[in-house]
Amino acid sequence: MHRRDALRASKIMQEKVLNNPKIEVKLDREIIDFLGEDRVSGIKMKDNKTGKEEVLDVRGIFLAIGHTPSTKFLSGSGVIMDKKGYIYTADRAGFESANELKEKFEPKFRFQTNIKGLFAAGDCMDSMYRQIGTAVGMGIAAEIEIEKYLEENKDKGFVEKIGEIAKKAVQCCID
Ligand SMILES: Cc1cc2nc3c(=O)[nH]c(=O)nc-3n(C[C@H](O)[C@H](O)[C@H](O)COP(=O)(O)OP(=O)(O)OC[C@H]3O[C@@H](n4cnc5c(N)ncnc54)[C@H](O)[C@@H]3O)c2cc1C
Repeated sequence: MHRRDALRASKIMQEKVLNNPKIEVKLDREIIDFLGEDRVSGIKMKDNKTGKEEVLDVRGIFLAIGHTPSTKFLSGSGVIMDKKGYIYTADRAGFESANELKEKFEPKFRFQTNIKGLFAAGDCMDSMYRQIGTAVGMGIAAEIEIEKYLEENKDKGFVEKIGEIAKKAVQCCID
């Protein structure tokens, strides 16, 4: 179900969906109510063009509307983000539009945030591509930058400190 009268995905992706016999595409529709007691039994939707309402019996719903990076936990941390919550890093795609911020970043460490030693990669900082391939690539590139950073700062005790933090974080996940 899509609230507009046309899909916005790439043509090839649209064709995949439109040509799949298991998928029925309903355009110009919006969900106005979720039905069911303990679990969902259906949805009530409205046709945005005619205003007509209809009920669709479904046992599950998967919502995918827009993109919101999961970075709320960073608010108040000092990490610079854009209005939508995407983290700025020294080389972030579209960084040119944030010229006034440039002096807060060290350009020699790509993927480093404005906080020294804190790096970000993937969908949390990339509002442009948001793909598995690009996220993985950025992760690898960021790791190389982190190695450079650690090498350059090895006399400052950072490595040991970060090592301790990482150990604690891993232990926390295991627990
Ligand atoms: C429905 C859907 C379909 C998609 N289809 C495609 C596709 O066909 N091809 C494609 O290339 N891309 C696709 N994508 C995009 C792709 O999934 C993402 O670009 C990719 O997963 C981004 O990787 P990431 O590691 O940056 O972020 P994520 O994969 O989002 O990983 C972030 C991780 O951080 C965890 N996390 C969040 N907050 C915290 C916190 N406070 N503490 C600890 N952990 C936390 C999350 O639980 C998550 O595991 C799709 C995305 C969606 C939603």
